[in-house]
Amino acid sequence: MSIAAQFSDLYGYEPAGVWAAPGRVNLIGEYTDFNEGFVLPLALPHTAVAAVARRDDGVLRLHSADIDAPVAELRVEDLVPLSKYGQGGWAAYPAGVVWALRDAGHAVTGADIHLASTVPTGAGLSSSAALEVVTAYALNDLFELGLSTQELAVLSQRAENVFVGVPCGVMDQMASACSEEGHALHLDCRDLSIRQIPFDLAAEGLQLLVVDTRVKHELGDGAYAERRAGCEEGARVLGVSHLRDVEFDELDDSVRKLEAAGADEKVVRYVRHVVSDDHRVERVIELLAAGDVRGIGPVLNEGHVSLRDDLRISCDELDLVVATAQTAGAVGARMTGGGFGGSAVVLVEADDADAVTKAVLTAFEGAGYTAPRVFPAVPSAGARKLG
Ligand code: ADP
Ligand code: MG
Repeated sequence: MSIAAQFSDLYGYEPAGVWAAPGRVNLIGEYTDFNEGFVLPLALPHTAVAAVARRDDGVLRLHSADIDAPVAELRVEDLVPLSKYGQGGWAAYPAGVVWALRDAGHAVTGADIHLASTVPTGAGLSSSAALEVVTAYALNDLFELGLSTQELAVLSQRAENVFVGVPCGVMDQMASACSEEGHALHLDCRDLSIRQIPFDLAAEGLQLLVVDTRVKHELGDGAYAERRAGCEEGARVLGVSHLRDVEFDELDDSVRKLEAAGADEKVVRYVRHVVSDDHRVERVIELLAAGDVRGIGPVLNEGHVSLRDDLRISCDELDLVVATAQTAGAVGARMTGGGFGGSAVVLVEADDADAVTKAVLTAFEGAGYTAPRVFPAVPSAGARKLG
């Protein structure tokens, strides 16, 4: 049954429209977003799809086809950050977007929303951003708010930060809102300016595989805040507002300065990761501009080492994916996203995709791990109205 037909079954009338917003995977640039640096994500073919109708009576009804829970019914003027809405708390994501829009002064007077998503949850592929952005995009259309995709992304991030209470950067929502098919999105997290970078893997005979390890180790939550605080401390000691302001060719000097100031060795490592990863984004952009797509492989490999040894957010499963893929002939591989589980990206010759996939599956079986989910990341379109 179509999502519109499901909406009609649920609410007893036809939706005003159907919208979609994708999950994303980050090619390079990790933990750089809150340092006001650079990232290079691409939108996945996997999307959250929402059938929506506006209401003018202050009622907000929310339902997900993927969650076994009844319709959550709320009043828009009762929305309060950090409350749980609906079973499992999932409804806080779309409700948070309504709250963020209203808090920014937009007259969103209610809605009926029914959604379904093919973005794997908790795999570091931003199923949460997809939910937020599809909601924001639909409400922007239905209430004729005239907001840009950038503005919708920022409001969606605010929904997640303030309303849901997850301290994420803005990359996920920007990638979901602003990506274009066949491109990666070069995002400057300081001013949110974007550049569409042609990334036509198929034409090069390449594939970017996403390997979802299906594990999420617990220490992830506190570790993000700890890395973030360490980066802020590094910036403070170096006398810059954000680590983005440290040039790559100043990195060695900066490390000496941090050591001389008695900075914690962790802070030194975090600074080294962030400044070098910002530089890796630049290198990947240059290689892609020069048409050398295979040339990004070693940069991805280096990025993994930096995440594993300097930022220390990898885990055994992610290291196993990367090492196995490299041995099996991948062009390059790295963990991607917040770390401690989630997914890795593996760049392969299309002809080698099956062999590399098989090697990873065999290695996981041998280690006694749950079989990972492997699929190609075809660079896809950002949020859009489907009908
Ligand atoms: P990620 O964004 O990496 O997938 P998060 O923990 O940030 O992981 O977000 C996952 C949460 O988003 C889920 O626990 C759920 O609350 C919500 N979510 C994602 N997809 C759906 C869906 N299809 N229906 C309802 N809730 C969803
Ligand atoms: Mg998320």
